[in-house]
Formats: sequence, C-alpha cells, structure tokens
Amino acid sequence: MTGTARDSRDNRGEWQPRIITSPAIFDWPPRPLAALKWLFGYPGYLLPWIGFLMLIPLVTWFFLTPDLATMKTFEFDWIATVFFRNVGLLVLVAGGFHFRFYIQKAQGTRYKYNENWPGKHRRFLFGHQTRDNIFWSIVSGCTVWTAYEVVSYWLFANGHIGYLNWEQHPVYFVLLYLAINPLRTIHFYLTHRLLHWQPLYRAAHYLHHKNVNIGPWSGLSMHPVEHLIYFTGVLFHWVLLAHPLHAIFHLQHAGLMAPYGHTGFENLVIKGDRKLPGSSDYFHYLHHRYFECNYGAIDVPLDKWFGTFHDGSAKAHEAMQKMRQQVHG
Ligand SMILES: [Zn+2]
Ligand SMILES: [Zn+2]
Repeated sequence: MTGTARDSRDNRGEWQPRIITSPAIFDWPPRPLAALKWLFGYPGYLLPWIGFLMLIPLVTWFFLTPDLATMKTFEFDWIATVFFRNVGLLVLVAGGFHFRFYIQKAQGTRYKYNENWPGKHRRFLFGHQTRDNIFWSIVSGCTVWTAYEVVSYWLFANGHIGYLNWEQHPVYFVLLYLAINPLRTIHFYLTHRLLHWQPLYRAAHYLHHKNVNIGPWSGLSMHPVEHLIYFTGVLFHWVLLAHPLHAIFHLQHAGLMAPYGHTGFENLVIKGDRKLPGSSDYFHYLHHRYFECNYGAIDVPLDKWFGTFHDGSAKAHEAMQKMRQQVHG
C-alpha cells in the first residue's frame, strides 16, 4: 500500500491505492504455504475481522436473545427485544465508524478513496446522504433482518426445522459455522447480479447505488425489496440442519459486514502510523464507482472466474469500458 499524496489521486479526486489480487488459496499451481498464510495469518482471511464477527453471535445468543421456549408464538415483547438489539448492533458498528471517521474526522481524508465528504444532495431522502442512509438501514434493514431472525427462532422453537445439537455433532457444527462466510459471498454474488438485472435495478437496487461516495451507513442502505433478497441467505439454515447460532451469524454477517465494507477508507488509523489491519474493501468501492464489476467479494473470486473482476488497474478499466461499448453499442 502506498501513501496518500494528492498527486496519486486522479482528476476526479479519487485515489487508486493498489491492485487487488485474489487469495493465494485459489492459485494454480497450488502454493500451500501462501494459502495457509492467507487463511491463518494476521491480517488474513480469518483474523481479525471474520474471527471477531464470529464471536458476536455467541454473545448475542447467550446474553441478548430471549429463551427459545418463549418464542413458540409470535409476541410483541420478544420480537421488540430482537429488533432493538439488532438496531443497537448496527448503531454500534455503522454509527461507531461514522462517528470516528466522518464526524470527528479522526484521520481527515487520509486514505479516503474519495476526497469529498458525503452530505447534502437532492437525490437523497431528507436532502442528506447520511440521514437517508440511516433511515433505510434502520427502518427497512433492521426490520427485514429481524423478521428473518424471528421466523427462524419460531421455526426452531416449534420443531418445524431441525435443531442441531452441538454436543452430538461438534465437527459438523464448527464446519457449518466456518462455511457461512464463503456461503455468504456466493449468495451475495448471485443475488447482486440478479439485482443488476434492469427491472430489479430500477425497482430496488438503484437506491443503494445513489451512494457513489460511500460511508459506513451506506452499507445497509437499501430498498425494502433488496433487503428481502439480501437476507435470504439465512434460508440455508432452514434447510440444512443448523443451530440458531448459525442463523444469527448468517444474518449478522449480512447486517454488520455491510457497514464495514463501506467505510470509504483504504486504511483506518488507530494512532499515528498504526492502522487497523485489513480494514478496507476497495473491491466493493470499485463496484460503487463503476457499477458493472465486482459483484461479490474477493475471498471467493467469482468475479474473476466469470469475467467481471476490476482489480483497480488502468488496464482493467479499459477492458471494462470496451465490454460496456460492446453491450451498449
Ligand atoms: Zn455497496
Ligand atoms: Zn450493485
């Protein structure tokens, strides 16, 4: 990663920090040592972010979730508890990033992809990007997230779907837990490509793409129809034998990785030159910038395999422009 000198920005004030490469685990011929380093290194695939995200469902399930026995019938009290807990989690993550990097402006525009700050604009609800983003994230996002979670609990509580006992199947339990991140990437790629199908784009996904200059609250700022599609990954656990923890993790992964993926910075600085490791999603930033590329995430490089990968280089940009001209004439 290079510095942030203004002369490294293009004529639109955008900074192009690096070329994105796919994980060593997919290299051919295989490079087992590099693959292991990617999997278990620091920063790497698991550490620190995915590993940290894996712990939140444990705290949620043991301390912040009503007893499953009370969730056999739909009742206001426990549903409200789950809703406000989810709002709290989102506010903590999206609000935390936003407060530090967009209100306090702790590092100014250092490492910021776009040197402008999100703010007032007519195309947003209430005439302001952040207010618009918070509205859609909480009113629609947390409602749909909670609805899927509530129905999952109700299905588990009534025995309508299988309940995985971790003591009987510990290996399967852990493997399924570990599979959630790649499952989510594959699901996100497929549903995101579907959302770029013109009728669905015009009906729903356009709303997320109002955010060209993204911020943490842009992550879950989506049309309700998109939220309904975005959170469907949890249905895996209605079919595959699972524990409520898997369902919680799947939904939290969708809900909380979204603000993380939209911080708008290549690096988040702790102090001086100390940075939070692995704290950027340049891959998804390029999707917001150029629309017709990088639909998934780099940890399962489906975009590379299906020809929609933009690695941030001028060469990739030219190739994409050419493809666009061929499609649109
Ligand atoms: Zn996005
Ligand atoms: Zn999109």
